[in-house]
Amino acid sequence: MLPAIFVSHGAPTLALDPCPAREFLKGLGSKLSKPRAILAISAHWETAAPAVNSVAANATIHDFYGFPEALYRMEYPAPGLPALAERTRKLLAEAGFDAQLDHARGLDHGAWVPLMLMYPNAEIPVAQLSIQTERGSEHHLKLGRALAPLREADVLVVGSGSMTHNLRTMARGQVNAAEAPWARDFAEWIHSALDEGRTGELLDYRRKAPNAVLAHPEEDHFLPLFSALGAGTEGGRAERLHRSATYGTLRMDAYAFS
Ligand code: ZN
Repeated sequence: MLPAIFVSHGAPTLALDPCPAREFLKGLGSKLSKPRAILAISAHWETAAPAVNSVAANATIHDFYGFPEALYRMEYPAPGLPALAERTRKLLAEAGFDAQLDHARGLDHGAWVPLMLMYPNAEIPVAQLSIQTERGSEHHLKLGRALAPLREADVLVVGSGSMTHNLRTMARGQVNAAEAPWARDFAEWIHSALDEGRTGELLDYRRKAPNAVLAHPEEDHFLPLFSALGAGTEGGRAERLHRSATYGTLRMDAYAFS
């Protein structure tokens, strides 16, 4: 059975910049057994209640400003999969969520940048699920738990956010800058908690983890981790697939939950 995975998508320029995280994502698709479809949970689609896009073909959303022109020309024309969108909506409804279908939205860069690196041919159908930032960690863990049955149908559940995400602290223009110790300390605390299955402490990471508010002034980029964790097997294994930093403070870690 496929694991559920969490990936850090970094800056939109991850699609262009040579760095270890980009190389890792380029190799990740062929390391996993090929999914029938993908459900992406990106930090860049925030709604009041969970929404799943149900479209025949995904538009590529260039939801960023002031980046190199080449990024705006990139397209990731993965097919949509209305049947997966409906199954996802139904699983969420059965778990008590007020989930909706969205018949217009395509894929934002939190979804398409890592998927373009992992599956460059864009042939695997993709549906995207939104996050509810104000609802916090436990809500997103439960959301993930409701989605666990998708793994049995060869659907790859991908949470896409960032292990750390404080744009004010980034070393702009220096993708391979030396890593800030506070970012490392936060990421390593999270790693230990995941490795040891201390889910209760993880849910309370804003109080328990060192430098949590510095690492995530807002929670949006961290919440997809909880959904991926929830979609893994309860009490199962958390495997760190990758660790690195870009721009000094943007940790690019990835995990598989099986
Ligand atoms: Zn982002």
